[in-house]
Amino acid sequence: MNSGFSAYEADEITDRNVPDVFTSLYKKVFRFGAETEKELKDRFEKIDRMAEYNQLKVLLAMRKNRISAEHFNGSTGYGYNDAGRDSLEDVYADVFHTQAALVRPQITCGTHALALALSANLRPGDELVSISGKPYDTLEEVIGIRPSRGSLAEYQVTYRQIELTADGHFDYDAIRDGITSKTKIAAIQRSKGYLTRPSLPVEEIGEAIRFVKSIAPHVLVMVDNCYGEFVCEKEPSDYGADMTVGSLIKNPGGGLAPIGGYIAGTKECIENCAVRLTSPGLGKEVGASLDVMRSLYQGFFLAPTVTAGALKGAVFAADLYEKLGFKVVPESTAPRTDIIQAVEFGSPEGVIAFCEGIQAAAPVDSYVTPEPWAMPGYDSNVIMAAGAFIQGASIELSADGPMKPPYAVYFQGGLTWQHAKAGILMSLQKLYEKGLVKL
Ligand SMILES: *Cc1c(COP(=O)(O)O)cnc(C)c1O
Repeated sequence: MNSGFSAYEADEITDRNVPDVFTSLYKKVFRFGAETEKELKDRFEKIDRMAEYNQLKVLLAMRKNRISAEHFNGSTGYGYNDAGRDSLEDVYADVFHTQAALVRPQITCGTHALALALSANLRPGDELVSISGKPYDTLEEVIGIRPSRGSLAEYQVTYRQIELTADGHFDYDAIRDGITSKTKIAAIQRSKGYLTRPSLPVEEIGEAIRFVKSIAPHVLVMVDNCYGEFVCEKEPSDYGADMTVGSLIKNPGGGLAPIGGYIAGTKECIENCAVRLTSPGLGKEVGASLDVMRSLYQGFFLAPTVTAGALKGAVFAADLYEKLGFKVVPESTAPRTDIIQAVEFGSPEGVIAFCEGIQAAAPVDSYVTPEPWAMPGYDSNVIMAAGAFIQGASIELSADGPMKPPYAVYFQGGLTWQHAKAGILMSLQKLYEKGLVKL
């Protein structure tokens, strides 16, 4: 019996020095995890440095805007003169280095924020061009790629898609050909979503923005920044994106925001978004913040360190499963641009076992067994594992996998690195129990 931490200090990890709080884990699993963690020391230190940088970035923005307790009071009804809401938008604008931002609980999710940014800045006859290939699944209906009630297509906005090159980079020749005088918005998606392409580094997004502006200065660039916030020093807005868009139940909400989305960008674009979200003539002036302001501020303040914890989990999972012979995207040593980690198990059993482990490690609903199920908008059954404090929050530990080749699981989140680690080790244990890995 040993309740101390000698396992981490010992040169060799033996059965005897495994802390007893880990008794639910096989010692083999614990040891494999501890050895993996030891190898990642330098990598984790870099992630901590990034968190430190971004922590100060947020802190300085809060200081500059003189945030005080009265900003947490919220408002009701029309929400006139809501100082907390207005200052939070200034804090976001300062962190993203933009002229303005719209950060609202009335933006219901990431898809809504993206739909708002697009519909607010496109007019009939305009063309939207995605220059990073197929956009996130839910945007297919927003755009009208799949015919849908209320889509941009119904408002005579046309759409063109420019694929990335085979190795996942921007295809500059195709972009030059694809952007015309009709083009109003060029859209870029930073994170891979449910695709096996690599997520795009911010610097590369920056180059693409510069290219688009050089050939067509009138074209607005919108970046879907979901899962990318605070992973790097810079954000797409630092490279001149006209709109940078994301969800508050992912990175920037820090696990505390119960709802919301943000758009950070130029004054002109944000004004368009505001009058679309509320009403022409009303714009940013209305929109009660009710009781969520404290959570939005505190969550944004914690977001750099929460993101760092999730990032450590992603790197840990990559390294661990790579050592066991599975293909992982990105590879364990690759630079990171988001918190998503894909692991290809090559079999339905692998995907299911992984998700069962993540579910077993959830603070909420740990007793539930996830099963593959038909989901609207997907062409195969999907298994999802999550047990979150905020419904559907994917900055909390979660995993999902479509039941089709290559049988990859997409894993993300963890409010703390320690929780992400526990979840990954539980997933390994389930795979081990089912004889799908050898330790
Ligand atoms: C999550 C996500 C979205 C949509 O966000 P929801 O909050 O689920 O609507 C859009 N794009 C990307 C890349 C995402 O990861």
